[in-house]
Order: sequence, then structure tokens, then C-alpha cells
Amino acid sequence: MDSGSRDRSAYFTFVVRKKVEIINKKINKMSYYYINKNPQSPPEHGEHEIHKGNDCPKPPLPENRIRLGDFSNCKDAMMEAKRRFSEWKIDGCKYCNEECHRI
Ligand SMILES: [Zn+2]
Repeated sequence: MDSGSRDRSAYFTFVVRKKVEIINKKINKMSYYYINKNPQSPPEHGEHEIHKGNDCPKPPLPENRIRLGDFSNCKDAMMEAKRRFSEWKIDGCKYCNEECHRI
């Protein structure tokens, strides 16, 4: 192997390592999101709240949780919830998804 191709292969290894690092960082930032299958009261509110992983101080009962998936932010989780439950009014939990809490 000449020095040119050794440099290229070192560079290639470096690039792959960097990419793996970035992907790992993204994966680590992902959190598990779920939605409460019961709407909030009073009924005129009636929104279903999205909660994040283990961050919530007031989580719904485990049997009332519907898993949405792993997302890096609540907006993506919200989009998934709206896609799956288009009939529902959906809001972020004010404790664990403050940036998506509207109602
Ligand atoms: Zn919550």
C-alpha cells in the first residue's frame, strides 16, 4: 500500500468514526414518548396528553398509555400522535413536554 492510499484509508476511517459518533448522539437524545388514551377533564378540554419517557412527575397509569415511539423532540411525537389519532385533540403534558403544551 503506498502512502497515498494509506492516507485515504485513514481519512475514510476517520469519516466513518465521525458519522457513527453523530448517529450515536442522535440516538442518545431520543426519548420514548407515549400518549394518554384517556382525554383530560373537563370534557370541553378533552385533549389527550403526550408524555415523555420517565421524565413525567404526573404520568398516566401504565394501562392508559399508548406508545408512540422514540423521538428526539416532542414535536415529532406530536406529529406521530396526530397521524395515528387524527380524531383526537392532542397536547403536550405541561410537566414533561412543556414546549409542546398549549391548552
Ligand atoms: Zn407528563
